[in-house]
This record gives sequence, C-alpha cells and structure tokens, in this order.
Amino acid sequence: MTSILVKGGIIVTMDPNHRILPDHSIAIGDGKFQAIGQTNEIVRDWKADEVIDASGSIVMPGLICSHTHLYGMLLRGANLNIPPPSDFTQILQRVWWPVDENLTFDDAYASALVGCLEFLKTGTTTFADTYSGPNSIEGVLDRIAGAVDEVGIRGLIAFEATERHSKEEGERGVQENARFASKMKQEHVSKAMPLFSLHASFTVTDDLIRSTRELATKYAVPITIHTSEGLGDLQHNIERYGKRTLERLRDVGLLGPDVVLAHCVQLNDDELDIVARSGGKIAHNPMSNMLNAVGTAPLVHMLRRGISVGLGNDGYIFDGFENMRAAYLLHRVVSRDPNAIDAYTILEMATIRGAELYGLAEQLGSIELGKRADLIVIKPDVLPTPLNQDSVIGHLINSVCGRDVRTTIVDGKIGMRDRKVMTVNEEKAQREAQNAAAGLWQRLRTVKPQVEHIRPSR
Ligand SMILES: [Zn+2]
Repeated sequence: MTSILVKGGIIVTMDPNHRILPDHSIAIGDGKFQAIGQTNEIVRDWKADEVIDASGSIVMPGLICSHTHLYGMLLRGANLNIPPPSDFTQILQRVWWPVDENLTFDDAYASALVGCLEFLKTGTTTFADTYSGPNSIEGVLDRIAGAVDEVGIRGLIAFEATERHSKEEGERGVQENARFASKMKQEHVSKAMPLFSLHASFTVTDDLIRSTRELATKYAVPITIHTSEGLGDLQHNIERYGKRTLERLRDVGLLGPDVVLAHCVQLNDDELDIVARSGGKIAHNPMSNMLNAVGTAPLVHMLRRGISVGLGNDGYIFDGFENMRAAYLLHRVVSRDPNAIDAYTILEMATIRGAELYGLAEQLGSIELGKRADLIVIKPDVLPTPLNQDSVIGHLINSVCGRDVRTTIVDGKIGMRDRKVMTVNEEKAQREAQNAAAGLWQRLRTVKPQVEHIRPSR
C-alpha cells in the first residue's frame, strides 16, 4: 500500500486536546496516520512513495456529512412547473414524492457517482445517505455502493423505508437494508457501510419501527429517521397517538445511542430531554431547513444537554464549508446572541461529532495516530489576512469554501490531488448524471402531486 507524506502546513487535528500544529507533517501508511510531528523530524525519519506539499495550507480531517440524499443531485436547478407549495408537507407531495416514484436504478447510480464526486472535491470524505424510490428497491444499495467505491470515499447507505403506499412497500425497504447489512458483514472490501433508515414517523407504523429496530440490533447497524422536520410530523403523532414525536419514538422502543434523528426542528424541551436520556444523536441540516422553511432546530439547547450533533446537507448544498457557515450564522441571528455558537463547535459537528453519530469516532473524525487516514489539504487562492495558528479556525469558518480543497486523501489513498480527481473519469460521470437528470425531469412533467398517501394505517 502506498505511503504518503503530507509535508508542512497548519494541522487542525480536531483531537480531544483541540491541538492546532503549525509547520507540522504527517506520515501515512497502511491507510492510517503513522506519525505526526515537526516537519524536519518527520522528513528525516520517514520515507514515502508520495509527498504532498502542504506548505502554506490548512490540513484537517476529511469532513463528515451526517445526513444526505445523493439523488438530490439530479434536482439541482430543476424547474418542475408545479403549483407553489405553501408548507413542507406540500413540498413533499409536489416535489419529493413524485421524484421518488420516478427514480430508476440507473438514476440511483448516476446521482451517487456525481454526489460522491462532489463530496470528494469539496472535502467531505464520509457521508450518511438515504435513498428513496418505491420503484427501485431490491438491489439498489449495491448500485449506490458501486458508485461509493468507484469514487473512493466512505458512505453509510440506506434505503428509506416508508409505508406511504402500503405496508408491503415498507417491509421491502427494510428488507433491502437487512440484505445489504448481511452482505456487508460478510464482505469487508467496500467503503460503503450499512445503515437502516425509516422515512419519518408520519409515514410509518409502529410495526415497521419495531421490525427495523430488531434488525438493526441484530446486525449492529445504526438507524436514522427524519424527525419532526416539519410541523406535519408532530401534528400526526399528536392526533393519531396523543403523543409528541419523541414520546412516540421512545414508547415504541426505537431510541438508543445508535439512532440518528435527522432535523429535530419542532422538538420542545421535554423531547430534547428524551433524546439526551436515550443517548440518541441528531443530524442538523441548517441549509435544508432554511430552504424548506420549516423553522430553526434548537441547536444550542441540544448542545447544552450534551447531545451529539452532526452536520448534514439533506441532499441540498454538498459543500461542507457552506453548510458550516450557514449553521454558524443561522443560530446567531435566531438567538440574537453573538456567542450562541462558536466556530470550533461548528467544525466539530462537521468532523468528530459526525463520526460519533455513527459509532465511527474510534476510526475517523480527527487526525490522531492510528486512526484511518482521511484528510484534506486546503489552500485558498487568496487570503487578505495572515493564516496562522490563531487565525486558522476563523478562516475555516469565514473564508474557506469547498473549491479551496486542493487534495483529498481517504483511507490513505489520494482521491484528488491538486484538484485533479484520481479515481473516476469525471466527464463520463457528469455526462451520465446529465442524461439521468434530463430523463427524470421529462418524466416529472407528466405526473401529479402525491396527495392521497400521507398517513399509513395503524
Ligand atoms: Zn433528509
């Protein structure tokens, strides 16, 4: 296996001591961080097959996107000519559910390929994706895993089970996740990792939640579910069960340290306490929340309770730095408190906390000896102010964007070097996605909003 020396640069380790190391170097071998030290010592002691010059650059762990939908790539810029939705439920009915119905296996693959590529090029090395498509269920995770491995980043991938149409549809979704989990337990060659996913509590019955919980425990795989994103989820649970969303999820036995609740925008204090007590984790998606006009998640209150919160894009903007900046700004403006959240906490959400969410913090999320070597080298074209130990965190939140990532290393392999992708043919991947999107947009022009299947029977 290739050994790599990342030479010079300011290393933002994201380790437990929050170390920031100016003019340090890193030796990588066997896919792991083998040595971190002063540049002159590392250069003297380590010989490597490849040397990456990181002088004048920022070196940090690859970003972790805690919640995404790779197929969202195919909707970018689409004008679907639909009656304007007036709330989140109508956005689902008029946009996302018709999209789901029309997705094919080839769409899943093409979107995963360009989604992973965009992550690689903007510094995200691990993500958690849930795919939704009632007409492309059995085997779809193999197609998505294929794209993950071609691009060479890490992805937890799941089929998003829902009973929007029928109980059988929900069961098929869960079984696809179980099939993939079982396959991954036997094969240890893929960078794709299994995950169980339920769409949201308002589209699944208690039976499906229980069967998902059982299988996830059996395979020791985490579970994710959209939770009180819009008000519709909360209203559904209050009307049908007399419980708020987290009360129902607790009472049905879903919650635990291996559960990642996406969004949690409408949670009240009691529900936040339920999450904290269960050891559950939260994926925060500020840009998607703004786009869908669902409100602002109570991030500051989550963090105060010690809940692990990661940062997701929900299939919207794939540049992790843009998502960090949005989180940083949003919670200041909403709280009217300039100290509401600090830049370092946001960086943690995009790295080590993201790893914690999915039980991967022993391996990923920081630059520490023995951890898997996922890192990025960032060099902005121009910085109007000095880059040093004191300014680097400020620059990461206020100046850097994904296009400033020069080099991306995943598991000790160079996936992008000096902006050149080393793993897949970018042009071919983009062409495939363009064709997939054109076909999907064409099909979507002829469909009607999904209004009849919002609430599953009990
Ligand atoms: Zn989502």
